[in-house]
Amino acid sequence: MTDSALYGAIEAGGTKIICLIGKGPDDIRAQIELPTRRPDETIPDILAFFEGYHSQLGPLARVGLASFGPVDINPHSPHWGHVLKTPKPGWTGTDLAGAIKAGLGVPVVFDTDVNGAALAEGRWGAAQGLSDYAYITVGTGIGGGIVSGGALVHGVMHGELGHIPVPHDLTSDPYEGHCPFHGDCLEGLACGPAIEARWGTPAQALSADHPAWTMEAGYLSVLTTNLILMQSTRRILLGGGVMKRASLFEALRAQTKARLNGYLTNPPHDGDLVDVIMPPGLGERAGPLGALALALDADRAV
Ligand code: ZN
Repeated sequence: MTDSALYGAIEAGGTKIICLIGKGPDDIRAQIELPTRRPDETIPDILAFFEGYHSQLGPLARVGLASFGPVDINPHSPHWGHVLKTPKPGWTGTDLAGAIKAGLGVPVVFDTDVNGAALAEGRWGAAQGLSDYAYITVGTGIGGGIVSGGALVHGVMHGELGHIPVPHDLTSDPYEGHCPFHGDCLEGLACGPAIEARWGTPAQALSADHPAWTMEAGYLSVLTTNLILMQSTRRILLGGGVMKRASLFEALRAQTKARLNGYLTNPPHDGDLVDVIMPPGLGERAGPLGALALALDADRAV
């Protein structure tokens, strides 16, 4: 493909969808934000955006589609491109990537929103030059993408980092959990809606010294500690609405360090984890740029 080629990018989230056309963070030619409605309304909205720019900007080389999960991202699966079991009305079983590919007539690279964001952070953000890192989002839900040895970790489908079991002391935290599948998994205890349900106040309205933040750091530190122990992850970037509370990073570093308890003696895991547990470099652009990063990954196009 020539240097003049433009790429399409679609970040499909639970409440909104961002579509853009461009080549990189500094070369975005068109962008739109759409509400996530039912698939029979949303997919035509997406196609209309790209078709509207076709005569002005020319054909697209590829489209990257970074979707909420769970989704079938295995190119060899007969269900590639489908949204799997989801509580979002009408979306279970939708052939999202197939509809985009057929509608636009271009190859599609399909992955989760968090895997896309992880790639974007490696290409343009706070994980540049690193081969082992992770991107975690803590908001309406909790999800994450892991890069190991320079490549996204996929497995049978994709990881579901938000749903790992975590120690739950019912004496200090009697809240039963928010997850419809597991109750008190990590997402069930530590996502934004869980914080609001437990304390009766949205996370962003809780004061800096509220005990919610120590508890939140405690749950999230189970994930960060396990990433460091299982993958020897060099850097863990945490974004999403809940992580906008800057003091949460300090508490999370401290509780992760406490769990490691001096066991790891190699830098940077032996210190205060200041450049291990960090905010994403791309901020809220990690999502849509994640879809663009997927589009640049020609080897995975279907
Ligand atoms: Zn769960």
